[in-house]
Amino acid sequence: MNYKLIDTHAHLTFDRLYSRIDQIIADAKAAGFNKILVICTNLEEFYRAKEYQKKESMIDIALGFHPGDLEDIKPSDLKELEQIISNKEIIAIGEIGLDYHYDHTIADAQKELFIKQIDLANRYGYPILIHMRDATKDTLDILKEHCKTKFLMHCYSGSAETAKIVIKMGGYISFAGPLTFKNARGLLDVPAVVPMDRMFVESDSPFLTPHPFRGKENEPKYVTYTFDKVAELLNVDKKVLADQMQKNYKTFFTL
Ligand SMILES: [Zn+2]
Ligand SMILES: [Zn+2]
Repeated sequence: MNYKLIDTHAHLTFDRLYSRIDQIIADAKAAGFNKILVICTNLEEFYRAKEYQKKESMIDIALGFHPGDLEDIKPSDLKELEQIISNKEIIAIGEIGLDYHYDHTIADAQKELFIKQIDLANRYGYPILIHMRDATKDTLDILKEHCKTKFLMHCYSGSAETAKIVIKMGGYISFAGPLTFKNARGLLDVPAVVPMDRMFVESDSPFLTPHPFRGKENEPKYVTYTFDKVAELLNVDKKVLADQMQKNYKTFFTL
């Protein structure tokens, strides 16, 4: 393989992946990856990732408070997040956003947490990674009103129409396993409306394992299937696409 890949969203500090992280990283390297962005959803995960990063430079770290964890988040956690940002210990804030899939009655509280973290990102010039599920309108409205920094829609699962709006707003889009699923349908139309200099691929491991491994626990090495699918849909040379994604990573995270 004459190109390198990046997994821009992996929960390697979840217990079920962390227990075998050495093997997961070794397998990712063997599959052609040179970078994995580890997404931490709480401080405990962040300190775990930070410790691991001392011996493994392949990982970068992002930290943000997920809308689904609303009840567990204390005001002191946001203070600590700010401290971590000012120490430059992470490269992005995320994942943050809105998720009305299980419960939309807490929408206002989710919005408040989302906006607080966007404000933090604005203040420190940090890019943000967005989790948006069953909350397209509210998420885009908040981004339009509050976001003054770069943003990426992680595990994009919306329509091509919404993707066009995101691109027009200056956003980036990251594709995950669902693009390879047999029932991907409308999602297959999305890569064509996203300029190559605005796209990424990710695992969202341990979730959403690409076809043909669907049902198995996901890990970064399987991102190759999602990447191949994007290249196939765009009818573009894999090396050209991979090299562009490496550039995108540097541009988006201003490394
Ligand atoms: Zn997410
Ligand atoms: Zn995630």
